[in-house]
Amino acid sequence: MKNLSKSELVAACGIYCGACHRYKKGSCPGCAENIKATWCKIRSCTKENGYHTCAECTEFSDVQACRKFNNIFAKIFALIFRSDRKASLSLISKIGVEAYALEMEEKKLPVLKRR
Ligand code: SF4
Ligand code: SF4
Repeated sequence: MKNLSKSELVAACGIYCGACHRYKKGSCPGCAENIKATWCKIRSCTKENGYHTCAECTEFSDVQACRKFNNIFAKIFALIFRSDRKASLSLISKIGVEAYALEMEEKKLPVLKRR
C-alpha cells in the first residue's frame, strides 16, 4: 500500500481517509489509491475534471445540488453517522486541503459532524 501524505489522504468527497478506521487497519488504501472504487461517481468526476475534491467544482456552487454528490447513499450515510461532508468541503475551500487534513488528523475525525 502506497504511503500517502496527509493532503493526499483527503478524499474527493471531503472525507479525511487518514482518520478512517478502514484505512487505519489497512483494509482500504484511501480514496486516492482506491482504484477499485469505480462505483463512486464523485471520485470519477473529480478525476475527470482534475480536481482534488468537490470544493474545486465550478459546476455547482452548492454541492448538495449535485446528484452525484448528494445521492441516496450519501443521505443515509449522513443520517447514520451524523456526518456533514458539505461542511468539510466548505472548510477545505476556506483553509485549504493541507490545513484541513491537519485539523482532521488532530480531531481524529474522518468528516465534520452535523451540528
Ligand atoms: S465516497 Fe467516493 S469520494 Fe468519498 S471516500 Fe469513498 S470512494 Fe472516495
Ligand atoms: S460536486 Fe458533483 S459535479 Fe462537482 S466535482 Fe463533485 S461530483 Fe463532480
